[in-house]
Amino acid sequence: VTLASDPVVLALDIGGTKIAGALVTRTGRCTAMASVPTPARDGAGAILDAAAQLAGTLRASEEGNRVRGVGLAAAGVVDPTTGVVVSATDHLAGWAGTDLIEGIASRLESPGLPVRVQNDAQAHAAGEAWLGAAAGVSTALVVAVGTGIGGAVTVDGEVLTGRHGAAGHLGHLAVPAAAGLPCACGGTGHVEALASGVGLAQLHARLSGASGRSHNVAGPGVTPLDGRQVATLAATGDPVALEAVRMAGAALGVAVGGVSNVVAPDVVVIAGSLTGAGEPWWTALRSAVAGELIPALAGIDVVAAELGDRAALVGAARRVWQGLD
Ligand SMILES: [Zn+2]
Repeated sequence: VTLASDPVVLALDIGGTKIAGALVTRTGRCTAMASVPTPARDGAGAILDAAAQLAGTLRASEEGNRVRGVGLAAAGVVDPTTGVVVSATDHLAGWAGTDLIEGIASRLESPGLPVRVQNDAQAHAAGEAWLGAAAGVSTALVVAVGTGIGGAVTVDGEVLTGRHGAAGHLGHLAVPAAAGLPCACGGTGHVEALASGVGLAQLHARLSGASGRSHNVAGPGVTPLDGRQVATLAATGDPVALEAVRMAGAALGVAVGGVSNVVAPDVVVIAGSLTGAGEPWWTALRSAVAGELIPALAGIDVVAAELGDRAALVGAARRVWQGLD
């Protein structure tokens, strides 16, 4: 039970499709969670307006809670020191260059509150390392597989942010199976181009075309399946969908295994919508990881994340609490 007088941190998670928010206690309990669609095409000002409006709704819903600060997790490469979005993909129009600390602080009713910002994948990892699947371990590799592929390394619960906050971009590791495929970052051959939700959908479309099975081929009047639909089709035993799911899982495993050889994690935590892609995907992923690991690292656990959508909110709040304690 959260008492009305308990101090809380206001946490916001700005993603490509929705903005989630919650009030988070010092122990990491989320109260008053809510979300609104991201006005992704309307520019950074509109996105921050929507986030501030959600913040106001959350504060009003729990009158009496004392908000001690604001933690923001956001898509894009976010410099945690300056609060500026260093770069971003086209999912959020006009996002790159935005000063998130100033942008949020100036829109809040209490301008004196401390505001901390970080990349959403890093916030997600911080949350899992605090209260989820990576809690209590020394080193963890956390990988989020959804529309794109994000990642972060945590050491004793702290996220490695690196230069400009850009550490952890596991999705932009080259893997042989993705050779030649264009990636959302502008590069080619990166694992995201094959193993993300979008990559899986495109892979399935290519395999369907090659197999001559017309009912799944993208063409005039035919909508290609998205990643989730491919996974659902694979679960029915459809051989082409199954092949696509296995190839995507294996490609991700090659990247995860390679990075694991670099950071030697105690556990690998996999988050994001594709974790629901079923047993064939998990088996291909784990098998490929095992195939890449050096002998000293054999047997690293590859497990599903535990906090779901709460992870980034909890992780964003944690940074604020750390600054207050
Ligand atoms: Zn890339």
